[in-house]
Amino acid sequence: MSSSELISGRPPRVAVVGAGLAGTTCARRLADAGCAVFLFDKSRGLGGRMATRRAEWIDADGAVHRAAFDHGAPAFSARSAAFQAFIDEAAGDGVLARWEPVMAPGSHRSLDGLALWVATPDMPALCRRLAGELPLTRSRAVDEIARSGDGGWRLLAQGELLGDGVFDAVVLAMPPAQAAALLAPHRDDWARHARAVPMQPCWTLLGAEAGPAPAWDAAWPERGPLAWVVRNASKPGRAADSDGLNRWVVHATAAWTATFLESPADAVQAQLHAALERALGRGVRWTHVAVHRWRYALAPRTASAHQPCWWDPALGLGVCGDFFSGAGVEGAWLSGRALAAAIVPDPAA
Ligand SMILES: Cc1cc2nc3c(=O)[nH]c(=O)nc-3n(C[C@H](O)[C@H](O)[C@H](O)COP(=O)(O)OP(=O)(O)OC[C@H]3O[C@@H](n4cnc5c(N)ncnc54)[C@H](O)[C@@H]3O)c2cc1C
Repeated sequence: MSSSELISGRPPRVAVVGAGLAGTTCARRLADAGCAVFLFDKSRGLGGRMATRRAEWIDADGAVHRAAFDHGAPAFSARSAAFQAFIDEAAGDGVLARWEPVMAPGSHRSLDGLALWVATPDMPALCRRLAGELPLTRSRAVDEIARSGDGGWRLLAQGELLGDGVFDAVVLAMPPAQAAALLAPHRDDWARHARAVPMQPCWTLLGAEAGPAPAWDAAWPERGPLAWVVRNASKPGRAADSDGLNRWVVHATAAWTATFLESPADAVQAQLHAALERALGRGVRWTHVAVHRWRYALAPRTASAHQPCWWDPALGLGVCGDFFSGAGVEGAWLSGRALAAAIVPDPAA
């Protein structure tokens, strides 16, 4: 697909598989450039690892409680001027807000002077904003991308055709191991490279309890299994803990998670519970608790490829995601933006 097709013919039809930040950034930019963009995601909602889980439970006294836990990326920051400009615009629109947590004494890292940002009212809100009204097929995992006779692409899930017909281009915007499975029949070189990216896992505990709130909002404990401890309500735009319960999100370190990756969830929960008690210096009695295993949470800090995305114009196949441009939310955004620019170069750039 070349940019000239944009000018001469019908708008190119692009399928974007993966509606996290890389996918929705790419999709928004392609749509703004005149492409007909279709989003696909295996989850119920948008956002990918910019995730918020909602829970509702009834306690022993019969009272109903509701909570939302940001159990994916707790927050993010900007190192590049381009991403900072994007943040400033989104903050102006009210979809991002600065989070200035009081850090627990003994937290081992400084914030490097970087501001922390969160989406409001929940983490997926940023991706929802980018996706806007673009057509979205959700709750279906694409398990095959196939060439059609006329040189286009078809998307399949368990043998069933997804979407409305043939696409001129396909964008894969997902963790590398998942992209590799789809890429293998078409670009085995990319698939092999993607398979080799050492993504870091993260066990996450989310729970509510009625103990006294500490004088801090977040902690990076100095030692032990915990990477982050966050009081969710300390973030802007979140509902206050009006029922008197603290809502905690606790991320284990990548090294600890790797050791216990295949352990049963209840054993992991018990260990993270004990670590939180040590961090708080008191006992914790949950009124609601769960754990979530992120098998592919964080990309390595060093970019895995020498370019910010992959784009094969002859095939009409592209890949973006946080594993190209360095770890984290910023890397995902930079990669999604770069792929859109490769597919539809900006004549003014
Ligand atoms: C626990 C945790 C802590 C983190 N902490 C930080 C942090 O402090 N700072 C920071 O900057 N970043 C952090 N991150 C990383 C950050 O969330 C990611 O780098 C970023 O959100 C990745 O965006 P993405 O679009 O590349 O991928 P994703 O967000 O993973 O999006 C990929 C999407 O593709 C979908 N998908 C996958 N396979 C298929 C398929 N076959 N068919 C259809 N859909 C599919 C998935 O459902 C998902 O929605 C953290 C992540 C986690 C999980």
